[in-house]
Amino acid sequence: MAEDARFDLMVIGSGPGGYVAAIRAAQLGLNVAIVEKSELGGVCLNWGCIPTKAMLRSAEVYSHMQHAADYGLSANPGFDLAAIVKRSRGIAEQLSKGVTFLMKKNKITVIQGFAKLQAGASAPIVDVDGTFYKPKNVLLATGARPRALEQAGLVPDGKIIITSREAMIPEDLPATMAIVGSGAIGMEFASFYASFGVEVTVIEILDRILPQEDKDISDHALKSFKKRGINFKLGSSVSACAVSGDGANLTLTSGDKSETLTVGRVLLAAGVQANTENMGLEALAVTLEKGHIKTDGYGATNIKGLYAIGDVTAPPWLAHKASHEGIICVEKIAGQAPHVMDASKIPACTYCQPQIASIGLTEAKAKEQGLDVKVGKFPFQANGKALAMGEADGFVKTVFDATTGELLGAHMIGAEVTELIQGYAVAMGLETTEAELMETVFPHPTLSEAMHEATLDAYGRILHL
Ligand code: FAD
Repeated sequence: MAEDARFDLMVIGSGPGGYVAAIRAAQLGLNVAIVEKSELGGVCLNWGCIPTKAMLRSAEVYSHMQHAADYGLSANPGFDLAAIVKRSRGIAEQLSKGVTFLMKKNKITVIQGFAKLQAGASAPIVDVDGTFYKPKNVLLATGARPRALEQAGLVPDGKIIITSREAMIPEDLPATMAIVGSGAIGMEFASFYASFGVEVTVIEILDRILPQEDKDISDHALKSFKKRGINFKLGSSVSACAVSGDGANLTLTSGDKSETLTVGRVLLAAGVQANTENMGLEALAVTLEKGHIKTDGYGATNIKGLYAIGDVTAPPWLAHKASHEGIICVEKIAGQAPHVMDASKIPACTYCQPQIASIGLTEAKAKEQGLDVKVGKFPFQANGKALAMGEADGFVKTVFDATTGELLGAHMIGAEVTELIQGYAVAMGLETTEAELMETVFPHPTLSEAMHEATLDAYGRILHL
C-alpha cells in the first residue's frame, strides 16, 4: 500500500479545535492536512455555538419587541419560525465557508472523508476511506456528540426525542417540551423555546440548575427562569420514556416518588459523549479516561506521534478551550515552548436570558480547597447602564483569596455578562489582586462598573449601595 508521506501534521476534525490548530501549525511552517467527514467548522460553527446564538438573538429581539411599551415604543410582535431557522443556518453556512477560505489562505490541504488510524512507526498511519497517509504527527480533534440515556429509554429518534441538532432546525413548535439536563445547552434551548410560547419543563437530576455555576448564580437563574414561566423538576431523573405518535410520556423519579410528565417533545441535553469509536483507537490502545482521550497539558496522548484536543478530551467542552488547546499542542509539536493549559482560567458562558458567565473557582469550591475567601457582590439594579437598558436583573460576584488578594473566581448573571467576563479572564491571567482591580478605572456608564463594585464590596468599600 502506497502511503502519502507529505504531511508534517494531519488534523482529524475541523471544529474550532482542529481548524485553529491547523492554521497555527501552518503559520509555524508545517505542511498540514485536515480531514473532515462533514462540514468544515465542526459542531461549533455548524451545529453548536453559532447557530444557537443566532436563534437566541431572535428570541431576545422578540422579547424586546414584546416589551416595547416599557421603552415608550409600540410594536406588533410576531414571528416566523422558518425565517428564524433560515437566518441561523445562513450564518452557520457563512462561517463554514469562512473556514474553507482560511484553509486555502494558509495552504492547508483539506481532505473530505472519514479518518481511521493504524499503528505506524513514529506516528499512526491515517486511512481516509481507503487512501493511506503517513504523516509525522496526527492530531485528533473529532469532538463529541450529545449523550443518549438508553437506560431510561431516551434514545434520539429525531422527531419526539431530539438532540440539540434537531432543536436547532424545528419545523414547528410543540405546545410542551421537556429538556433533560440544565447545563448551558439545556438552559439555552429552554430560554429559546419558552420565548416563543412553548411550555418548557427542565428536568435536572441535581438539586439545582446550572450545577457547574456558583450556587448563588444557580439560585438567581432559577428565580428568573421561573418568572419567565419555565417549569423545573429538580432532584428528578427520567426513569422511563414511552413515545407515542405525537409525544412522550416520561416517568420522573425523585427519591421514592414518581410522576408522569406528558410532553410533545423531549430534548436531550445531559452531557456529551466523545467521538472515539470506529477510528482504530482500541487497536492502538489509546488511553481513555471517563470515555474521553487522556492527554498531558500539551495534547500528547500515550501513543507516539498522536495528539488530541477539544471535546474528544477532558472537560470543559467548550469551543475556546478546544482552540486554545490546539494552539498549545501544535506549538509544542513545532518545537516551541507554549504554556501548559490551565483549565481553571477558562471562562464559561450561557447565552440564555438573563445571560450567565463565570471563570475560576466558585465560592464553595474555594472553601472546599481550604482557602480563606473574601466575597463581593453587586446587583445590576444599582447600575445606571443596566437600568437605562431596562435589563437590571442579575448581579456580579467576586471571590478573592483573603490572604493574597488574588482573584480566584468571578460569577455573573445579567445583560451582556458573556461579553464582560473577558475582563476578569485577563485579570486572572495576569494574577491580578484586589488592589489592581480597585485601582482600575471603569468607564461610566457601563455594565462593567458592576465588576468594579463587586471587587470593592469584597473589601468593604462598595460605593453605590
Ligand atoms: P467539534 O466542533 O465537535 O468538531 C469535530 C469535527 O470532527 C466534526 O466536524 C466531525 O465531523 C469531525 N470528525 C469526527 N470524527 C471524524 C473522523 N473520524 N474523520 C473525519 N472527521 C471527523 N461551546 C462554546 O464554547 N460556546 C457555546 O456557546 C457553545 N454552544 C454550544 C451549543 C450547542 C447546541 C452545542 C452542541 C455545543 C456548544 N458548544 C459551545 C460546544 C462546542 O460546540 C464544542 O466545545 C466545540 O465544537 C468542540 O470543538 P472540537 O474542535 O473539539 O470538535
